[in-house]
Amino acid sequence: MKSIRLWIGSKNLPVMPLQFVILALCTACRGGIAEMGSQPGTPIALTTPEGEQLLVESKARKDYWPLIVQFVTQDNLAYCGVASSVMVLNAMSITAPAAPEFGKFRMFTQKNFFSDAARKVVPSETVSRQGMTLDQLGQLLETYPVKAKVYHAENSSLEEFRSLAVKNLQEPVNFVMVNYLRSAIGQKTGGHISPVAAYNEQTDRFLILDVSRYKYPPVWVRAADLWKAMDTVDSGSGKKRGFVLVSRP
Ligand code: CA
Repeated sequence: MKSIRLWIGSKNLPVMPLQFVILALCTACRGGIAEMGSQPGTPIALTTPEGEQLLVESKARKDYWPLIVQFVTQDNLAYCGVASSVMVLNAMSITAPAAPEFGKFRMFTQKNFFSDAARKVVPSETVSRQGMTLDQLGQLLETYPVKAKVYHAENSSLEEFRSLAVKNLQEPVNFVMVNYLRSAIGQKTGGHISPVAAYNEQTDRFLILDVSRYKYPPVWVRAADLWKAMDTVDSGSGKKRGFVLVSRP
């Protein structure tokens, strides 16, 4: 019953009318245990006491601090990949381009991310309209002096993702970004990109720093749910979503 209470009580979802809750419970009952087990677990918001505790207990949170210092909201509805990249590049202390709005100071921003080289991969106008694919994310990142290793779900596995991501989250100056389908983790609705900041071993959950900060807080998501959400086809590329490991060359 605990997960149901949390789901109903989440401040990010509307409180369900009682009839709806009863109907949902009945549907689950009819589906039996196997079907209930296929439902995504409830994401746990970092802003709840439970979410805070998961971070305190995390033994793989090396990337949390550099990322949280650079945490930004995506500039438009399709700019999740741009916002995530800007966070990671700033967190890696890569030499940043000029940012006229900050005078003599340099910083990666969502306005200066599209250099001439980046525009050759995909123009900012296109990304503003339809977002970017996982391959474009990797190619855009590599227009800067970083290595971006792209893993599509069809060529990887939950076990490999968990192993590589946890190792990365225990190391400084390299980062994990995920490309996933929101509906598969119990959120609304489409494809999304955000950095991963920590892992909690006891609950097998990853912390996603969701760049749609107007919509969702950072959430702890079960590894299996996150994997299922990456193991979905992006109609923009015809390939499955997945993850990117970003490191210095
Ligand atoms: Ca790392």
